[in-house]
Amino acid sequence: MQKSTAHIETLCVHAGHAPDAATAAISPPIHLSTTFERDADGGYPKGFSYARAANPNRTQLETCLAALEGGSEALAFSSGVAAAMTVFQALKPGDHVICTQDAYHGVQRLLREVLQPWQLRVSFVDAADADAVRKALTSVTQLIWVETPSNPLLRITDLAAIAEIARRVHALTVCDNTFATPVLQRPFDYGMDFSMHSATKYLGGHSDVLGGVIVARTASAFSERLRLLQSEAGAVPSPFDCWLLLRGAATLHLRIRAQTENAVRIAGFLAEHQAVENVFYPGLESHPGHALAKQQMRGFGAMLSFTLRGGAAAAMRVVANAKLFARATSLGGVESLIEHRASMEGPDTKTPGNLVRVSVGVEHAGDLIADLDQALAAR
Ligand SMILES: *Cc1c(COP(=O)(O)O)cnc(C)c1O
Repeated sequence: MQKSTAHIETLCVHAGHAPDAATAAISPPIHLSTTFERDADGGYPKGFSYARAANPNRTQLETCLAALEGGSEALAFSSGVAAAMTVFQALKPGDHVICTQDAYHGVQRLLREVLQPWQLRVSFVDAADADAVRKALTSVTQLIWVETPSNPLLRITDLAAIAEIARRVHALTVCDNTFATPVLQRPFDYGMDFSMHSATKYLGGHSDVLGGVIVARTASAFSERLRLLQSEAGAVPSPFDCWLLLRGAATLHLRIRAQTENAVRIAGFLAEHQAVENVFYPGLESHPGHALAKQQMRGFGAMLSFTLRGGAAAAMRVVANAKLFARATSLGGVESLIEHRASMEGPDTKTPGNLVRVSVGVEHAGDLIADLDQALAAR
């Protein structure tokens, strides 16, 4: 696939979106067919044979996502964790993975509860500390998994430093790029090998479809193995899921810009509020990852969290008092969400009990701030 020189705004709208060859329809038809007719001589005239292996809607989505990340190819899955599972399944028993200790809790659970019993060796370290990653390397380290900004403290990992450490030992690197999206952060610019997304979040953008994606920087034996697993293990998205995700991607740049602007204002408001102990947002100069985020990202994103004076009870009350923010987990949709994160993650969580996480939507910033103001006042 040729790498496009178009800007990301143009790629969001056009990559994978050509008018339909059969009908000239501007919005792509949804191809529900599970099977495709062969030529009399046994060939596949349009390249499609069976929908699990490939189908037109998935190909369009994968074309779009590869272009957005500037990679060689993208592979779409039925959820973010299915995408993560596929990466780990491509390894062998006895291989060693270094995973950042604040990776998405579901990815950590997958490693601990499913893959360690399958003899994958895993070390959880603080990837924001490059030395800790270097010290965790073993002779069988095959993969380093990082997530930046991370959840829920929005910690920032130096992607170039991680890629450099991995290169020396021929380990592969994956960045969970869900929070930043390719609009704000392109992991391949820093030498990462794979970018992973829960497409359920910003790529879809409307809280109505589950999806996952892995994008490869370049074709390799490992990316071929991922393609094999996509088809043969079968955790694939439906054609309608792909259609919804492609539709979402078309406005990704607009949503991210609006949501980031709102988040900057909300973070500023919270940082000044006397009920708030700490605000975790990389756009604030007080954030430990601010300088690195400024250099590595084209904006600070629309996820933030804050801790409250008054402990877990105060945090629960603020969440309970919110009216415009919906009390729900997940993130990246057009609507703002608020959650008490520790109770969502369960008893093994390291998330502070007085922490509230917010996914900022596209509403008016003034309305969102007014809602938080009244929720804080009534705590
Ligand atoms: C939601 C999420 C995932 C998991 O994705 P699903 O689509 O829920 O399977 C992985 N990483 C991050 C950062 C997420 O927010």
